[in-house]
Amino acid sequence: MNTVMLLLSGGLDSVTLLHHFHHTDQPVYACLFSYGQRHVQELVFAKQHCHQLNVSHVTAELPPLRGSKLTDSGGNWVVPARNSVMLSVACNLAEAMGFSRVAFGANRDDAEQFPDCRKRFVDAFNEMLFHSGLKVRVEAPFLKWNKAKIARLASDMGIKPSQIWTCYEGGKKPCGACPACLKLAAALA
Ligand SMILES: [Zn+2]
Repeated sequence: MNTVMLLLSGGLDSVTLLHHFHHTDQPVYACLFSYGQRHVQELVFAKQHCHQLNVSHVTAELPPLRGSKLTDSGGNWVVPARNSVMLSVACNLAEAMGFSRVAFGANRDDAEQFPDCRKRFVDAFNEMLFHSGLKVRVEAPFLKWNKAKIARLASDMGIKPSQIWTCYEGGKKPCGACPACLKLAAALA
């Protein structure tokens, strides 16, 4: 079966990818992750898109993943091996369900900061899958895209800032006023 299993977070990149698969008639199944993230609200947003597009989804419950400070990025928190962990879980599910594709929203802007959003990582991961005896392969359709281009596609498909979770605040809805919300609103204008 040609269904693609998509890592869906509720943020711009993966939500746009979900709509893109849907609009291009590629069967898609969403994989959400509960991993002790600070903003569990992102999962609510992710599920809303699944319901809107009638896309089946599963929420994988992981043990709380630890964060660590990224020393060269002004003290931002990152989750070490996040993509490796989530892709591995998604590949397990996809292989068991007979899907041959797993997709995630890595893009050019992320790649500058995170090695596990680069082509070399995707290639290496696929080689690892091959040597693991799996048929499933990982893809990152936005690998060469920057956020502005992703936001344009999102806007073209009618996705609104209020439907995306990037907010820095911990409220139930995006605050609409923090730097992340303002940047998103401008990008989707
Ligand atoms: Zn906000």
